[in-house]
Amino acid sequence: MNEFDIIAEIFAPLAHHPGAFGLKDDAAVLPARPGFDLVITTDQIAEGTDFFAFDPAASVAQKALRVNLSDLAAKGAVPEFYLLVLALPQSMDLAWLQDFAAGLAEDQKRFGVTLLGGDTASTEGPLSITVTAFGTVPEGKILKRGGATVGDAVYVTGYIGDSAGGLAIFKREKHALSEPQRDDLIAHYRLPEPPVDFGARLRDLASASVDVSDGLLADLGHIASAAHVGMTIDADTIPRSEALRAFWGDGIEAILRAATGGDDYQIAFTASPVREAEIIAAAQGVTVTRIGTVTAGEGVELRHKDQVVSVPKPGYRHF
Ligand code: ADP
Ligand code: MG
Repeated sequence: MNEFDIIAEIFAPLAHHPGAFGLKDDAAVLPARPGFDLVITTDQIAEGTDFFAFDPAASVAQKALRVNLSDLAAKGAVPEFYLLVLALPQSMDLAWLQDFAAGLAEDQKRFGVTLLGGDTASTEGPLSITVTAFGTVPEGKILKRGGATVGDAVYVTGYIGDSAGGLAIFKREKHALSEPQRDDLIAHYRLPEPPVDFGARLRDLASASVDVSDGLLADLGHIASAAHVGMTIDADTIPRSEALRAFWGDGIEAILRAATGGDDYQIAFTASPVREAEIIAAAQGVTVTRIGTVTAGEGVELRHKDQVVSVPKPGYRHF
């Protein structure tokens, strides 16, 4: 199959919007929508860095899409469209691409998004997948990092650290987990579950919000520096799954690993504490945990049993 066959047979069936022209034109067109802002984000995942060659093609596709949906959710946007850029090694086979597209088809239904276009090229290097995702918010309503104010409470969705735990298992760290516990952690590494619908519901509740992708403490640091505030986080309140606690325990070292590991794709946000009842009502099945307070000052202070914990490396860095 050449790239034109790949586009026509594998990807055109995913392009439902009339403005995508069935992927038969040079570009797609979207009518401008009065009263709404377009929120745009892009993220790349690469074999060996963000997924393994032996991961199922469908989950690789879904991870590529979901790491972007997580950014949109953190901005309060409703996801609508995406572009897909593939750098494929020559050895890529048709069955892999079909499974990849099936994974996308499933997530398109689940998250209400549709493919608008992309680019397909071969590479001598590892397989790399770049998605650019587009979402909408009512005009002016994007949730930014910079809106936190002193006295706000700090919250995070879901569990933190499961993905880092799954990666540690792939890297052969010793464990005494049951099979379901192990599978649970690996599943979180392969397939993030960003709280997409909750993001849109947060729009009028949160003061600031960030996607947790590089490590909870590093990403909270982005809110703190954007808003020119400090933050105190209570280590014991950082939500960790039963499987992760069985793996690493409950000591401060375990909490630090979880809070700096990255790949969580949850939302960390701040809000006035008077909104807490509304936030709980908006959660609708999403776990939301209060983990700290916005303070005057700068940086993120992690406290454990009334001691300040030093955090040598708050998150993942590529370079
Ligand atoms: P060009 O040579 O101008 O880059 P392409 O042949 O790459 O054109 O693209 C033709 C059409 O196919 C365009 O609409 C483009 O958006 C779409 N397309 C190419 N690759 C992909 C892909 N991986 N996923 C989705 N759409 C794609
Ligand atoms: Mg092209």
